[in-house]
Amino acid sequence: MRLFGGIESGGTKFVCTVGRDPNHIISDISFPTTNPEETIQKTIEFFTPYTKSNELTSVGIASFGPVDLNPDSKTYGFITTTPKVGWQQVDLYGAIQKALNVPIAFDTDVNAAAFGEKFWIPENQPLDPLIYITVGTGIGVGVIINGFPLHGLIHAEAGHIAIPHDWKADPFPGVCQFHGDCLEGLASGISMNKRWGQSPETLSDSHPAWDLEAKYIALALVNLIYAYSPKKIILGGGVSQHLGFHQSVRKNVIRINNGYVNSISLTEKIDDYISPPALGNRSGALGAIAMAKNLATKEE
Ligand SMILES: [Zn+2]
Repeated sequence: MRLFGGIESGGTKFVCTVGRDPNHIISDISFPTTNPEETIQKTIEFFTPYTKSNELTSVGIASFGPVDLNPDSKTYGFITTTPKVGWQQVDLYGAIQKALNVPIAFDTDVNAAAFGEKFWIPENQPLDPLIYITVGTGIGVGVIINGFPLHGLIHAEAGHIAIPHDWKADPFPGVCQFHGDCLEGLASGISMNKRWGQSPETLSDSHPAWDLEAKYIALALVNLIYAYSPKKIILGGGVSQHLGFHQSVRKNVIRINNGYVNSISLTEKIDDYISPPALGNRSGALGAIAMAKNLATKEE
């Protein structure tokens, strides 16, 4: 049987999956991200039976970043300037390619999640550009343009865009190691935890945190709408799962846009326009499988 592998390499855990498509997943496993040697070894061990049986056609890696996506670069497939201790300049692609010896597609976790939502969900296929934003521990943005993830100098890093910061209303300085009060610095799960002294999951529904959070995410979405003119925005990640959060973000997007971009997607159709991931929390892993399948099709 022809099988595809997916690796969602996250800062806290790795998810490895083998299957054909979202409805035919043969096996998956998840383990904590420790040091690179141990974590990569566990990943290789998971896939080895499928390379031995010659069933593993290709693998997709959806990695936390920043990563090097330039195929001409000596450090292609490396995790580069991550703040995650021990993971700077790690050759993730090379180590896995060498051990499994199958074609490997490599991209950021959020580009992969965006690609998965596009590849597997028929209603999303004509919606291009498509943007996937995850608001969890950190904030990441994946952009699909002309059917494929946007690369460039490296890849979009719109989790770190600057958004207006009203220091009077919100004196919290932000937590980003690089920028302080960028979007991730002000609105990631880590920043919520630091600002309010408790994790987002434990904040009550009536806590002012949610209002502020929805405003920050809406400011980011309006920036993304103005920059990329997406036909669809998928808003995922742990923080976004809070009850009523999508609705609150949509309302703020309408208020901030103030009728400027004149489209029914920003008025009566906004529930379809800004929606949770159709693949739920499997977007990353199934996006990696989609990348693997797409690569195999291209190479045939
Ligand atoms: Zn930043």
